[in-house]
Amino acid sequence: MLDSPLTQKLAAIDGVELDREVTFAGLTTLHVGGKPLLALRCSTRTAVVEAVRLLDAHTCPLLIVGGGSNLVVADGDIPVVAVVIEADDVSLNLASGVVTAEAGAEWDDVVSLAVAAGMGGIECLSGIPGSAGATPVQNVGAYGTEVSDVLLRVELLDRASGEVSWEPAASLDLAYRYSNLKFTERAVVLAVELQLSTDGMSAPLRFGELARRLAVSEGEDAAGEVRRPCGLVRETVLELRRAKGMVVEAADHDTWSAGSFFTNPVVPTSHADEVEAVAGSPMPRYGAGEGREKLSAAWLIERAGFARGFPGGGAPAALSSKHTLALTNRGEATATDVVELARRIRDGVFARFGVRLVPEPVWVGVALDPEDSGDRD
Ligand SMILES: Cc1cc2nc3c(=O)[nH]c(=O)nc-3n(C[C@H](O)[C@H](O)[C@H](O)COP(=O)(O)OP(=O)(O)OC[C@H]3O[C@@H](n4cnc5c(N)ncnc54)[C@H](O)[C@@H]3O)c2cc1C
Repeated sequence: MLDSPLTQKLAAIDGVELDREVTFAGLTTLHVGGKPLLALRCSTRTAVVEAVRLLDAHTCPLLIVGGGSNLVVADGDIPVVAVVIEADDVSLNLASGVVTAEAGAEWDDVVSLAVAAGMGGIECLSGIPGSAGATPVQNVGAYGTEVSDVLLRVELLDRASGEVSWEPAASLDLAYRYSNLKFTERAVVLAVELQLSTDGMSAPLRFGELARRLAVSEGEDAAGEVRRPCGLVRETVLELRRAKGMVVEAADHDTWSAGSFFTNPVVPTSHADEVEAVAGSPMPRYGAGEGREKLSAAWLIERAGFARGFPGGGAPAALSSKHTLALTNRGEATATDVVELARRIRDGVFARFGVRLVPEPVWVGVALDPEDSGDRD
């Protein structure tokens, strides 16, 4: 655990600043969670590597923190050292289209810089909060694009060996909101390398709502390869996201969330048919590989009787007033309040449709089910 000699060694690392005051409420976009043993603010990649190696050598529990936008952390004292990555260099190679970002760079700054330079491919990921280094962790995605579409390589610190190396994206098993980094803590992402296009155009527009907003006609769409200037797509995505409270704004409690709280469930087609029969009306369902379909978690939540703003009445934790998939802190919520709400929603959807929603964020010291370890759901 963290004793005084270890703390002194950590303090002596160049680029590490000790923060003894911060709580997870101050480190996360849900604004809940208690106090870590200590927080280390690491301003260089080398500082991250040295701090993590030292903590691991002392078997001192640690949690890597970027923007804290995909974390649900328990109340009270949390027995981990928070390693906050703040190394944030971004470099763009306009000739090759390769963008390299250090893990602590704010993801939306990376998108904004790339778009301003006429580099396309990540404009649909505009407005996703958090750090560049976390984007491969759950293979972030929005509006028909996932980071796996453009990720070339990641620089990893392997926590078992202590080695640093560049690894190809294929080594991460990237899938829908998944990589082999999520929940495993096996490695720290130090930097990401992306391959973008250099013709100023977006990635092909595959998402109906966005394509309609950008007036993509049915005929054009048939090829599935319609592209628009990446700056225009970024602005449109930001507009759509703001209307749903999916761009973090400090004054708007609808954005004090962890984004989409549940992943869209993937079920056998026969189960999807049963759900539709129970619903009694056509529902959103999309092919997800042979004999399987992806359903809309937001639609299921609404149809299970949970309206926007639920439960209302000044409850400290409530569904966003703009989107049923975001569980939000109305200002004074604790982690316990958020977890109780999540449990109510999950159980309500299960009771109505027999579909068990799975939370998307990473859980620390808290769980939806008491028998779980608390490290994840
Ligand atoms: C309003 C809002 C909207 C959102 N919209 C979307 C969306 O459209 N699509 C989407 O996919 N997600 C979305 N999210 C979720 C979230 O923004 C992403 O998952 C984001 O990538 C998390 O980044 P972070 O730096 O905040 O990670 P954190 O919350 O700090 O960490 C999340 C997990 O990743 C680990 N981690 C963080 N950095 C590293 C690293 N460098 N190396 C190894 N592990 C690391 C942490 O230990 C933790 O387990 C949204 C969240 C919010 C609040």
